[in-house]
Amino acid sequence: MREHANGFHVAFVGNPNCGKTTLFNAITGSKLKVANWPGVTVEKKEGTVEFENEKLILIDTPGIYSLSTYTIEEKVTRNCVLDDDIEVIVNVVDASNLERNLYLTLQLLELGKPIVMALNMMDVIEERGMEIDLHRLPEMLCDIPIVPVSAIKKRGLDILLHAIIHHKEAVTLGQVFSYSEELEDKISKLEVIMAAKYPNHSSARWHSIKLLEDDEEVSEEHPVDVSRIVDRSYSRQIIQAKYGYVEEVIRECLFNKSSKEARTDKIDAVLTHPLFGVPCFLIIMALVFLLTFTLGDWIKGFLEIFLEWFQGVVGNLLTFLNAAEWLKGLIVDGIIAGVGGILTFLPNIIILFIALAILEDSGYMSRVAYVMDGIMSKLGLSGKAFLPMVLGFGCTVPAVMATRALETPKDRRRTMLVTPFMSCSARLPIYVLFSGLFFGKFAALVSFSMYVLGILIALLTAFITNLLDREKGKNNLLIELPEYKRPNLRSIRVYVWNKVKDYLTKAGTTIFIASIVVWFALNIGPKGFVNEPVESFAAYLARFIAPVLKPCGLNMWEVVVALFAGVSAKEVVVTSFTVLFSDAVNNMSLLESIQAVYPSFGGANALSLMVFCLLYTPCLATIATIKKESESLKFTIFAMIFQVATAFAFSALVYNIARLYI
Ligand code: GDP
Ligand code: MG
Repeated sequence: MREHANGFHVAFVGNPNCGKTTLFNAITGSKLKVANWPGVTVEKKEGTVEFENEKLILIDTPGIYSLSTYTIEEKVTRNCVLDDDIEVIVNVVDASNLERNLYLTLQLLELGKPIVMALNMMDVIEERGMEIDLHRLPEMLCDIPIVPVSAIKKRGLDILLHAIIHHKEAVTLGQVFSYSEELEDKISKLEVIMAAKYPNHSSARWHSIKLLEDDEEVSEEHPVDVSRIVDRSYSRQIIQAKYGYVEEVIRECLFNKSSKEARTDKIDAVLTHPLFGVPCFLIIMALVFLLTFTLGDWIKGFLEIFLEWFQGVVGNLLTFLNAAEWLKGLIVDGIIAGVGGILTFLPNIIILFIALAILEDSGYMSRVAYVMDGIMSKLGLSGKAFLPMVLGFGCTVPAVMATRALETPKDRRRTMLVTPFMSCSARLPIYVLFSGLFFGKFAALVSFSMYVLGILIALLTAFITNLLDREKGKNNLLIELPEYKRPNLRSIRVYVWNKVKDYLTKAGTTIFIASIVVWFALNIGPKGFVNEPVESFAAYLARFIAPVLKPCGLNMWEVVVALFAGVSAKEVVVTSFTVLFSDAVNNMSLLESIQAVYPSFGGANALSLMVFCLLYTPCLATIATIKKESESLKFTIFAMIFQVATAFAFSALVYNIARLYI
């Protein structure tokens, strides 16, 4: 318990960046005192101010979107506002983002404590020509005092302090609006039970609502047996009802939304539509891949011609220098074919990343999570989990790291388990190569279907783990939806350049080394250098494993070599294939030389191979990241085995179905 110090405590509570600290500093001047909350590292600040002969102790809390206890900020702030010492809560609201801020306001109002709203950033509102109905707004919010201020211009501060002092005795009813009949019925029953057991509890309604949301902390602090009433978590309904009410408030109280916001609303009416949202997402992704393929492949064609020419030049040069045959093989068929082969995919990769960058920078990507929330929640994951998954289209490593945004370790693991199924850019060359070789004008469609399949399997996995999991995960969706904006050329350039740099680095390191290793593995056998890869060590080993892949139509030792090598980086599957099958001597195309060895290798096999590559164990970098982020070797190994098993099952399925039609 803090000592009272002859003043009364006022907590500033609000979303991140609503201007709490600015307001706090504007009021307290330099009399700041920084204090730590016990047990956590998040800082809260305390300062004092005297006004109308009263001493106020102001507390600046960490910004939050909701009064749950998932994040440290939420815990700290929630404990602070629940503290009986806090006599008045000042809800700092960013008036220029009213809609996003009111969700927290509704939760605070349910506490039933004295609340004053500091409607901050009024200067922005005026500048944008927006108007807020300051008569209707408090009417819709339990008649709390609402004081327009501008922390930055130090306007309205005295009125705010005056309101705080005069409002400290006020009681707020705690009922801002009514939930559905079913919920209200449960809430009033719970309130009765609570009142009987804890007569002094000050926030019975809030507490009852939290019980319905299956909030662990309230049930631990004030244990009551309510299992008959709370038969499941009603948190989604409660959240949705709050959002519904926020919309109502906005409709009645906010005028002349800025043109930007109005435009955002219009676009969102389509893109985040409950029915059309998901199809829109799929269409947008389809367009991205169509572009990646058509335009990308066209440019890739030139690079391939250049690569062939370059191989020829280097080959002739080495012959001229009397280089040993094996060295010539290593350089021309190993390194140049391997690394160069990967580099020819650069146009596809660049186009993919430009498209992803535009989608991200324009503000669409955060909508995808929102759109997917409906589906995700049925699968027991929050829409938030879809954000890391979308990142997975680029690269799985940052995607796995992004699972940090999820609340519980369990949600994180489940997301980590499914994120590698999202087709990362390294798998793009595999699709481009094989769909191009075997599917002609349907190549783009086939590749796109790999992306869709990846998403479906990720969702299916989430669904099954949810079924198996008796203790259901929590799912609260609170994603900030930024306004749409014209993508910034600079940030796209930076984003794309970073990715291209990563890709080039990977080509220069991992893929460079892998192509040397693969070449040696294929050219050295029990008898030293071998003439034919068939006699190499790699072939002996791989031939041993190959029959296992018969159900998938992939029982070829070359495929086994490629898949193993591909664990270093998935592009290496392509590298290995080019190293294995490139036959410059007979001037055969890759397709011809594959079919020269395996005449029956056709579309069904290629499809199966793509599916396998999509799903099996991700690259080493991803595995290491999963290990680091999950802090569990057991989980990491489980994930790897699970992914290989999934890959096997689905490519066998796809192969056997495809064989009937192709
Ligand atoms: P906090 O996260 O709630 O503590 O927010 P800060 O106090 O750090 O403020 C976030 C940003 O909003 C800062 O860049 C402030 O300068 C700005 N800001 C705060 N109050 C106002 C205001 O009244 N008007 C304007 N225009 N900007 C403000
Ligand atoms: Mg702050």
